[in-house]
Amino acid sequence: MESSLVKDNPLLLPLNKEKTVYNGFITVQERDFRMRILLPPDRQLKRARLHCCWQLKHLLRGYEHIVKQRLQQSADLVSFILELKTVLEVGLKSHPKCCSIPPPQYYSQLISEMETLGLLFIDAEFRMLKLNVADSSGRQHIFTIKLKPKHPAEAPDCSADLPIHLAITWTPQSTLDHLHSQFLLVLESLTEFWDVLDEIDSKTWILEPEKPSRSDTMRRIAIGNNISIKVEVDPRHPKMLPECCLLGPEHVVTPLRNKLNANMHLWNLDSSVLHNLRDVLEIEFPSPATHEKSSFNVECGICYSYRLEAAIPDQVCNDPRCGQPYHQACLYEWLRALPSSRQSFNIVFGECPYCNKPVTVKMAGQKS
Ligand code: ZN
Ligand code: ZN
Repeated sequence: MESSLVKDNPLLLPLNKEKTVYNGFITVQERDFRMRILLPPDRQLKRARLHCCWQLKHLLRGYEHIVKQRLQQSADLVSFILELKTVLEVGLKSHPKCCSIPPPQYYSQLISEMETLGLLFIDAEFRMLKLNVADSSGRQHIFTIKLKPKHPAEAPDCSADLPIHLAITWTPQSTLDHLHSQFLLVLESLTEFWDVLDEIDSKTWILEPEKPSRSDTMRRIAIGNNISIKVEVDPRHPKMLPECCLLGPEHVVTPLRNKLNANMHLWNLDSSVLHNLRDVLEIEFPSPATHEKSSFNVECGICYSYRLEAAIPDQVCNDPRCGQPYHQACLYEWLRALPSSRQSFNIVFGECPYCNKPVTVKMAGQKS
């Protein structure tokens, strides 16, 4: 009898030589339930006492009389435990909610996985964790995972500072390690994109965004005083000619735009985006090594500041001797208030507040 008991319930062991006290776990449907069985000295099951963990008690609620009856009728401990397991199986089926309480292994596995994955943060409920993940180029990324222990079949909510949507595949058997390796694959697919932007960020003056994040695909690069180029890099095809928009006084921007159109065929996918931009525009970009950034952050001629909410002064007087920059909103409001200005649809025609030469501006909020 004893060997069969151990074979069927390897986690339930006798604590004394007389074999009147058993302690450990019984396993039902791959879940372990803690229990303790006390037998009288004559080891009669009729007078046995059972101590159950709270999950087991919860499952056996309403079945107490059946358990008692089985204790009276079972010939030995082996057959009683077999009967008890049958009752538990029925209980598990009728208590689907009970299944949603994560078993202790859930947490112990979580902890051992987290240790190897670079854990930065975990909340008190073990629901949300942040991992610090380095890609093969050594860039550090924060991967946030919101677990759903009550719904193990649903994918956790995963997020990170990425320029693309983070799609995760998930099964109830998936582990943190699976998530981690999927995240690494996504990071690897983006290393070329970040290489392109890191080179631009380190070798040129970036006017926008103020502090680029890993998900920003746009850069406005300073070319000269009040002249800049806005590039939009495709995260999936980072080395291709990006979408470009030149900003500044027309007499400077028009020749650059013409060069861009004429030299587009020179774009070389083996070369970096920054090199290609230099070759196609036939210019050198001012770099932190050669210029101060303050020479490009020229303030608006109306409000005397550089940043107006998110906007920077990108409307420039086209007179080559003036070239004064303005915020679109400032210039629009200024011109509209002047009786000498004229409006046609959403464009206002007026005079530059600095040099009195003709100047036009579109209604604020509309891209020029
Ligand atoms: Zn302004
Ligand atoms: Zn002017």
